Amino acid sequence: MKKILKVLKVLSICVLASVSIYGKTLYVGTNAEFAPFEYLENGKITGFDMELVEEIGKIINMDVKIENMSFDGLLPALQMKKVDIVIAGMTANEDRKKFVGFSDPYYTAKQVLLVKEGSNIGSLEELKGKKVGAVLGFTGDLMISKIKEINVERVSSSVGAIMGLKNEKLEAFILDLAPAENFAKNNKGLKIVSLDIEDEEYAIATRKDEIKLLEKINSALKEIKQNGTYEKLLSKYF
Ligand code: GLN
Repeated sequence: MKKILKVLKVLSICVLASVSIYGKTLYVGTNAEFAPFEYLENGKITGFDMELVEEIGKIINMDVKIENMSFDGLLPALQMKKVDIVIAGMTANEDRKKFVGFSDPYYTAKQVLLVKEGSNIGSLEELKGKKVGAVLGFTGDLMISKIKEINVERVSSSVGAIMGLKNEKLEAFILDLAPAENFAKNNKGLKIVSLDIEDEEYAIATRKDEIKLLEKINSALKEIKQNGTYEKLLSKYF
């Protein structure tokens, strides 16, 4: 009897393991420079997205392994199968949708400007003729790059743009609202300017052909929203 039970146990573990598409580990790409979504705290990557993906892992029965890399390296890493999914406060925009599959949205965001306290810049129009910082490849970069009269200064990380604002090499910096609020809180003398533009939706990216994984992620997201975990994470990080 004991033997049979043992065999059954091993069999059930095998069945469970084969349910997951990639085996037991879900490799997750992120860029931990986007507080409060993903950032380093005492050498550990934490944040809203990180806890969200941990919860997803629990529901779909996979171990989550976070791979930290540059933001512009995330989608190439996904295509090259170095990671299975990407969660990085990434906006599900039309350009990216051509190359990857996006989950249902999990957060609504907006682009804003960070400027020096005394600045009188109040709209996108007023950026014409000005030096404006944007992180290379972020949706903010794509947005202001469409306006020819703006001198876009592309930086590789937000920290560089904050420095640029402080020493007046830049007159404004375009980025997502939540990290902008974080920078404004932690850097005296900077303020946020809201823009009259459309909202953006953050979503988890998968490779285009991974329909099954996408379905699992979507139903896990639904569960997380229904069981109160989502609200808990929102109030923890925002
Ligand atoms: N939401 C922006 C984008 O998708 C910025 C994301 C980020 O910096 N992590 O480009």
